[in-house]
Amino acid sequence: MEYDIIVIGGGPAGLSAAVRAAWVAAPAATYRARVLVLDAGDAPGGLARWQPLVINTPGHVFTKRELKALVTACEAFGVGIRQERVLALRRIDGGFEATTEHGSYRALAAVIAAGCRLGHPGEHRLFHHNRVLWFHDTPRLDYLMQELDANSTIDTVCLCGAEDVAATQRHLDGPRRLALRTFAEPPYAGPPVPGVARGRLERLAANAAQSRLVLRFAGEDGVQEFETDVLIVDFNAYQKRAASLGFLEPAVRRLANGFVDPDRDMHCDVPGLFAAGDATGAPFGVVKAMSEGTLAGFAAYDYVCRARTGAAPNLFPFYPYEI
Ligand SMILES: Cc1cc2nc3c(=O)[nH]c(=O)nc-3n(C[C@H](O)[C@H](O)[C@H](O)COP(=O)(O)OP(=O)(O)OC[C@H]3O[C@@H](n4cnc5c(N)ncnc54)[C@H](O)[C@@H]3O)c2cc1C
Repeated sequence: MEYDIIVIGGGPAGLSAAVRAAWVAAPAATYRARVLVLDAGDAPGGLARWQPLVINTPGHVFTKRELKALVTACEAFGVGIRQERVLALRRIDGGFEATTEHGSYRALAAVIAAGCRLGHPGEHRLFHHNRVLWFHDTPRLDYLMQELDANSTIDTVCLCGAEDVAATQRHLDGPRRLALRTFAEPPYAGPPVPGVARGRLERLAANAAQSRLVLRFAGEDGVQEFETDVLIVDFNAYQKRAASLGFLEPAVRRLANGFVDPDRDMHCDVPGLFAAGDATGAPFGVVKAMSEGTLAGFAAYDYVCRARTGAAPNLFPFYPYEI
């Protein structure tokens, strides 16, 4: 095994898990875990790159500074971070193998921290340029659609989400100037809904003139690329049905809506497999992501240390005095 722990997803949950697992033994040096983060974006951070996140109460924020501190800590403790999307995570003899488009990585343990939807390289920049928009409640969506409808430079809008995006689409039914195209990402629980294409958004980017978005969509009728002025991300739908876990091959216990259902130590019912953050379902927030990530990091380290040394580690959260 090249690694002890592979973390899938480099958002607040995955980075917290990685840094905790790599740091836990620093003072006592019982055993140093070799940790690798695999993340589908173009830099670590997940949804926390989109905008500063409010932690619990106004005034406590998770900004670029906090994100940088997590990434710096990962570097200080030798955590590898690779910007590669995991296509499959499978069990192998004595551990797990994660396959990306660039290769395969093996580890004793794995942490699922892939959030509630598959992130895409560069999407936070498109968000900052108002090409990617988001909403989490229907009054805000109504407002957004009115604004877009009144903007004569915008003709087409694409709406994406998990299966429950169909409910959003129905909510929007009615006369409007804009052409609206809707698609739903798996998993699917019910029959197809007319007007809602099924498949995966594989890529999103700005066109050469930077004036429109180009989407690559792998649908039931094959792969197609098309342009749209704006993409609206239906986080309401993604929070109701996990769309980021298609890579996960082991049959782990899940909630009814598809999110992973670990125990209180963030251990799934597959030995050596842990989960944290939005991937474990509601509530969806950075505090939960970091807390669960930290717990998963401890638990994954505990699992690995016992396997490697035969002894239980000291899990008191020492500050690493050596840095
Ligand atoms: C616009 C916006 C505003 C928000 N505001 C707040 C707020 O104010 N307060 C708050 O508490 N929360 C807020 N949230 C929610 C918060 O961002 C999330 O709860 C938090 O980021 C979850 O962290 P995570 O690490 O679990 O998942 P994510 O941040 O989603 O990170 C998951 C990472 O996994 C990667 N990934 C997915 N699939 C794969 C794969 N197959 N292989 C490799 N990598 C993969 C993704 O690319 C992503 O980088 C907001 C979210 C958004 C979008």
